[in-house]
This record gives sequence, C-alpha cells and structure tokens, in this order.
Amino acid sequence: MVEQERLLTGQGVSPGAAWATARVVRRAVQAYPATVEPAQVNEELERLQAAIAWVNEQLERQKAWMSTRAGEADAAILEAHQMFLADPAYVGEMQRRIREENLSAAEACVGVTHATSEMLAALPDEYLRARADDVRDVGERLLRAVLGDEQDQDLTGMVVVAEEITPSMLTGHTGQPAGLVAVRGNRTAHAAILARSLGIPAVFGVTDAIDAIADGDTILVDGDAGEVWVSPSQTRVEATRARLEARHQRQRRAQQHAHEAAVTQDGITIEVFANIGQSDEAERARSAGADGIGLMRSEFLYIDRSRWPDEEEQYAWYRLALQQMAPRPVIIRTLDIGGDKPLPYAAMAPEDNPFLGVRGLRYGLVHRDVLTPQLRALLRAAVHGNLWVMVPMVTTVDEVRTVRAIVEEERLNLQAHGVQVGEVRLGIMVETPAAAVMADVLAREVDFFSIGTNDLTQYVMAADRGNAGVAHLYAPHHPAVLRLIRQVCQAADRQGIPVGVCGELAGDPLWAPILVGLGVRELSMVPSAIAQVKELVRSVSVSAMRELADAIVTSPDAAAAETLAKDALARLLP
Ligand code: PEP
Ligand code: MG
Repeated sequence: MVEQERLLTGQGVSPGAAWATARVVRRAVQAYPATVEPAQVNEELERLQAAIAWVNEQLERQKAWMSTRAGEADAAILEAHQMFLADPAYVGEMQRRIREENLSAAEACVGVTHATSEMLAALPDEYLRARADDVRDVGERLLRAVLGDEQDQDLTGMVVVAEEITPSMLTGHTGQPAGLVAVRGNRTAHAAILARSLGIPAVFGVTDAIDAIADGDTILVDGDAGEVWVSPSQTRVEATRARLEARHQRQRRAQQHAHEAAVTQDGITIEVFANIGQSDEAERARSAGADGIGLMRSEFLYIDRSRWPDEEEQYAWYRLALQQMAPRPVIIRTLDIGGDKPLPYAAMAPEDNPFLGVRGLRYGLVHRDVLTPQLRALLRAAVHGNLWVMVPMVTTVDEVRTVRAIVEEERLNLQAHGVQVGEVRLGIMVETPAAAVMADVLAREVDFFSIGTNDLTQYVMAADRGNAGVAHLYAPHHPAVLRLIRQVCQAADRQGIPVGVCGELAGDPLWAPILVGLGVRELSMVPSAIAQVKELVRSVSVSAMRELADAIVTSPDAAAAETLAKDALARLLP
C-alpha cells in the first residue's frame, strides 16, 4: 500500500530541497556514576584530559575538512568549539568539581556544560544566545569521549532528524547529509549558517519532527518553503525536481556572467558589491563577481577574541582585504558595536534602549582610544588599495566634522613620524531618520553615502529589528522607508556624491531593481546573491524602474507596495 504523504512545517533556515532516507539522531548515552571514591579522583582528571585531547584532535581534522568545502570563516565555527575546550571557566570548572566535589568526569562535564549553556541562553544578544548551542555540542562530544562512546554515525546522504542539529552532525563523515530537520534552532544557529555554506537544505523549528518521523522514512526537506514531507508523493518529488532544475539553470546562466558589469538596458552601470565580515572573505567575494566591497563590518573582526586588537593587528586585516580586492573599492566601516552587537571586553554601561544608545560612531566618539587606532590602521592600510572609510550610526553634521578632524589629525601625526598613509574617502551610513532627512546638508560634508536599510527601517517604523512581536511593522520596503531612500539619492545626486545601499534590501531580487529606480547606483549584498542581482539589473532599464518606483512610493502601505512591485516585475521579467 502506498503511504499517504504527511506535512510537517517549520522555518526554512537553508534554501533548496532534497529527499532521502531519514536518520533520527537521539542523544542517549550510557549510564555513569555521579561521584567517585577520593582515590579515583586522579583517574577521573586524566580521563577528562584524554577526552579533551581526543575531541580537539577530531575538531582539528574537521576544521581541515570544512575549510576546503565551505571556507575559513565557516571552519572558524569549529574553532569556537576548540576555544571552549581551552577555556579555564569551562574546563577548569570541571576539574574543580572533580577535585573538590569528587564528581565523576562525566557528571562534571554534564553539569558544567548545562550551567554554561544556560548562562549563554539567558543573554539578550541573539548571536551570543546561539553560542549556547555550541557549548552543548562540544559538551556532548566531550561526554561521549569521556564514556568511551565515541562512535560517530555516518550521516552521509541522509536526512538528519534531531532535537537539535549540531555542527558536528555536518562534518567529518565521508560526505555531507542530504538535508536537515530539527525541533529547535533558528537561522542564527551555527548549524544553520554552516548548512547555508555547504548548500544543505534545512528546516528548523519542526516541533513534532521526532515523534512524526521514524528511521528509514523517506523525507523531502524543502528549505525554501519551510516544509518537511514524510513519504512524499511521486508527483511532489517530480515537481520539486523540476523546480530545482529550473533554478539551477537560471543560476548557471547568471554565474557565467557574474564577472561582467551590470549594465541596465538603457546603458547605466550599477555597481554590485559584497558585504563581508572577515578580511579573508574578500577573495571569495571577488570570485562571486563582486565589483567591490560595499560593507566590511569591522566589528566582526573584534568579536571572537578576548581583548581589543591593536593598531598593527588591524592594519594587517585591512591590508589583506584591500590587496585581495585591488584595484576595486573596499568600503570598511568603523566599529559598529552597541545595539544588538555587544563586545564582551568593551566597557558598556547597561542601557534601557541600547538601539537608541551609545552605539556605532557614538561609541567611537566617546571612546577615542578605540576609534583612533582603527582610523590610524585604516590610513596606513589605504596605501595597499582603494579604501573608502565609512562611519555608522551618524545623526548630526557635528559628528561627521569631528570624525573628519580626527582622521586629518592622525594623518598628520603619522606623516610627521615618517609613516606612509594612503588616500581615503570618508562616507557615512545613512541609517537614522535624522541623517536621511538632512541628507542635503550631510552630502556637503562627506564623499559618499551608503544607506543601511536594516537600521533605517527599525528607526523609521519604530519597530525593533529583532522583536518578533513587531515583525509585521518591520518592512524595509514600506513606502515610508522607500520615500526616504529616494530623498537621500536626490540629495546625493545634487551634490554629485555616490550613494549605495548595504542593508539586506539590496540583495533582495524583488527590491534591487526598485532601488535602482529610486536612484541607487551601488548595491551591496551577501556574495551568493551577486550573480542573480547582476542578471536582474541587466534585464531592466533605469527609466522603467524609475516610473515603477515613483508609483510604488505612493502606495498606502508595505503590502500594497509589494503587490505593485511583484505584478510589475512579473510583467517585465517573464
Ligand atoms: C544596516 O543597518 O542596514 C546595515 C547594513 O548595518 P548592520 O546590519 O550591520 O546594522
Ligand atoms: Mg546598521
């Protein structure tokens, strides 16, 4: 009898679709004693030490595997696991519990892992909260190693179904899984980030997955729709196959032209840039067809470490990115911390409204000892390429004048000491309503604008970008935001300075052409979106997009704007 197909739903966290046999991974481990005799304490300490060494060795191998398949930045996720194993607050606490409380190594590992993950999970920052999953993953591996139960299952080609997918389930086997289904987790979980890099379709937040799926079931994971089909019908599999094939063909076509300029039908060149978070991603951005770097979020260089980087370290980072992209432009944004991006080692007073507080340039102007070395490193690195320096979270003209004065002062200081400095352009993120409204005034003070639609939207709509309760209001394509973008472009145009968009909207295939119609001439996005956006830009004309954009900004709300955009583009781009 043919089984009836069943649908489970969740959140698609990695796009694409795949169908294969399910392997349900449960986290059962053998029983172990909670305490040991005092005479056995040393033995337990040694057992823990040996297990740490073994897990470290495994992680080392897996890192090598990841860096060839996904990239250094993704392999760095496994490095975060190794950092836990070297962290005295984690491992040292286990050793203390064994020594002072006579706990078994297994009990100490479980207890300390639990306490650490609970502590991380309670933090307000989404990024740090997701690190709770990392410590659980590494703790689980350590426990298995302590118990001598280190057999890893080979999940190659399977749809892995688990309470929670961990990075260790994606690496170190003969190949990678076909798809992933998890009860818990979201887009920011490391496993989700890795799945996107490795191209494994994934759906997380499928609450009934463990109960509804059995080992050996055939599963279709649809990461685009956030759907999981158990025993999918032949018709569904065929329709999915056809959809994927059509997409591959479109991507192949776009990929073939990724390194060519994006010139519209009426002959206007739109620069398509990449957003990156690490210096070594510049190389990958270039291979993806980036005409430049439109946003290097320098704060990501500051995150996975325990102290401020000095001028020399920063100089090396920026030089690498500039050399990899030369002669193309590289826009490096100065440190943008605060808001949802705290730094563990930065002095930050608790704030009631961190998004309205001391973040971005505001932090730099208060903490000159942080901003100045960064600007000096940038001025020196500028010798090696085409550097544009951008400051985030600008609200007033006065802030811009102050930062320009610091740049000029440091240029003179460096030159006075015989240090070579390069030419830099100084620009601002337009991401506060004040900056957008005052764009005509600010345009006389700076060399370029880059509109940060992620933040501009939250401030214009008064809807926190990370708050699910107001997600319906957080619409970067709301006419209120689009009108401001058009106004900023007009102000920039009158002053003759370039204007780009580096928020997520720029890489959205529906809105990228509309942004061109609003007057944007540079779009910056995740490298994987570049080829497709270039292809789209080539198929439209600025004049048609301008007409469309003019109509869209008169829509009463975001939904109407979206309908108008979708209908018009469907007609223009069959
Ligand atoms: C933005 O605000 O649109 C932006 C690009 O910066 P971030 O997302 O880093 O705040
Ligand atoms: Mg921003």
